[in-house]
Parts: sequence; structure tokens; C-alpha cells
Amino acid sequence: MSTLFTKIINGELPSDKVYEDDQVCAFRDINPAAPTHILIVPRKEVATVDDLADDDGALVGKMILVARDLARSEGIADSGYRLIINCKDEGGQEVPHLHLHLMGGRPMGPMVVRT
Ligand code: AMP
Repeated sequence: MSTLFTKIINGELPSDKVYEDDQVCAFRDINPAAPTHILIVPRKEVATVDDLADDDGALVGKMILVARDLARSEGIADSGYRLIINCKDEGGQEVPHLHLHLMGGRPMGPMVVRT
């Protein structure tokens, strides 16, 4: 059964795609938390960081390099930005398909809300 993000990657659900290649796809978050909020998603259906295999290192590196390039094309590379990967329930992960959030275009504030 394919995930929500696989359906987006395959074009079965609409999205605002900004990048894709044979390994990853990037599209704008439907509920943006910053002026730039893009999700970088591997085509491979890895559910969480905890499900990554030892040989997925290059794939994760690719996700970060795509985020770097998108930050440049979005014009936020110089001002700075935040990259986030949430993992499972207490990490705040809602969609069980690995994804990297690229967020910027405003000061992003404290890393987490301290309780
Ligand atoms: P996370 O909480 O880390 O799993 O992040 C999931 C993100 O996916 C949230 O920021 C949602 O706004 C975003 N999202 C959910 N459905 C869609 C969709 N159909 N298109 C784009 N982004 C989505």
C-alpha cells in the first residue's frame, strides 16, 4: 500500500512540486509554517529515521543536498533556514514516510518550545 507521499510523488494526488529526480522529490508543504516550507521526500518508502538501513546514508545525504540547493533557489541560503526531520509520535511525525522539512524566509525562533 503506497503512502500519502508516494501518491503525491506519483502524481496520484496534487502537489506543488519544486524538484524531482530518480531518488527524491520535493514539494511545498500544504500547511506552511514559514514563507518557504518544502518537504524533501525519498521515492523509497522508508517510514521513519528509525527505519533507515545502514546503506541509506547516500540517500539521506542526497536529501540534504537537495535542501541546500532549494534554499539557494528560494533565496534563503544567505539569511538562513531550518532543516527538520520528525521521527515517530513523540518527535511529532504525522506522515509515516521519511521527509525533511526545509523552512525559512523568516526568523525561525527557538528550536523547540521548552516545557
Ligand atoms: P510531519 O509532522 O513531520 O510528519 O510533517 C508532515 C507534513 O506534511 C506537515 O507539515 C503537513 O502540513 C504536510 N502535508 C500533509 N499532507 C500534505 C499534502 N497533501 N501535501 C503537502 N504537504 C502535506
